[in-house]
Amino acid sequence: MRAVRPLVLCYHAVSATWASPLAVSPALLERQLSHLAARGYVGMTISEAERHRLARTLPRRVVVVTFDDAFASVLDGAEVLARVGFPGTVFALGAYGDGQVLDWPEVARWHATPYRAELRSLTWDELRGLHDRGWEIGAHSLTHPSLPTLDDETLATELAGSLERIADEIGTCTSLAYPFGRHDARVVAAARAAGFSVACTLSGSHPVDAPLQRPRVGLYATDDGWRLRAKVAPASLALRRSPLVHALERHVRGVRAPGKAGSLL
Ligand SMILES: [Zn+2]
Repeated sequence: MRAVRPLVLCYHAVSATWASPLAVSPALLERQLSHLAARGYVGMTISEAERHRLARTLPRRVVVVTFDDAFASVLDGAEVLARVGFPGTVFALGAYGDGQVLDWPEVARWHATPYRAELRSLTWDELRGLHDRGWEIGAHSLTHPSLPTLDDETLATELAGSLERIADEIGTCTSLAYPFGRHDARVVAAARAAGFSVACTLSGSHPVDAPLQRPRVGLYATDDGWRLRAKVAPASLALRRSPLVHALERHVRGVRAPGKAGSLL
């Protein structure tokens, strides 16, 4: 029998007004998650799902709702998750946490627009508040570099530094999301050495069943109605585990840049 795997979703910002591939409106987020709840999905944090996988006690339909970058607007998402009855997981940057505006080349283009305020990050107090409500706070590196491009020393600092900072502020940190989803064998080994027990990619297909390469499904503003139902249908999710689909995706990635938020965050 095939091993049960959780459905891990990847979101970024939550906003009704920011027309960005990084944002979903609160109303759409609620429709997407309510659709899953109605289909019998149970919500867990990423480490909770991993513990159940190891103990072989994972229910058949589990959804893990993750948010990368710790946008302040995740607080609006938390209200939605509370109504649906799911906990969340936020992957935060160790070098932020004072409510700074997120600032790396791929998001800096929004700084000179009316949407600059959308880039405010959650403070440590706000992250602690989410943790107190049953959320998990994982790491997303210190400064959001593309990890495979770093030398060994900088790579170790970005990973271990973010784990230590978050553990200091929150009390625990065991999970990681690779910035931009980018990783290779050296990055995975460094994540293990830093002390992470589970790490998430942004791969759309996932034949590999490894704790430090957990795939996620990104849901975007266009995933509503029939597109949403098709994307999370059991047949679609099973297809994404196919080695053939994975090989095809790798081929397509090789000939063009990855699209949507995968190339941004
Ligand atoms: Zn990111």
